Amino acid sequence: MNRRPGPLRECVKCRKVKPHHARGECLGCYRKRYPKCDAPIGNPGGKGQSRDPGAVASRVEDYAFVRSDRSVSRAEAAARVGISYRTAMRYDQRLNETSNA
Ligand SMILES: [Zn+2]
Repeated sequence: MNRRPGPLRECVKCRKVKPHHARGECLGCYRKRYPKCDAPIGNPGGKGQSRDPGAVASRVEDYAFVRSDRSVSRAEAAARVGISYRTAMRYDQRLNETSNA
């Protein structure tokens, strides 16, 4: 993976001028503070998918689009969108709710 380093900035934590990572901190300090929050954001199919409502809604849309082709099974659609079969079932439920409203 090739992550472009952020602009050089004085880290709010260690006060060293280093490539900025996030929240005014360099990568080292940020990682120490949020060891579990370094999952990729806005990277569909990547490790640790985002759970924010916007991202979920767009995945539901993707799923609905794939499923609009009747020849695609639920399992296949789930695999294409990168969700589990269980999640696909939840999405189906959600789509039924919205279309019957
Ligand atoms: Zn730092």
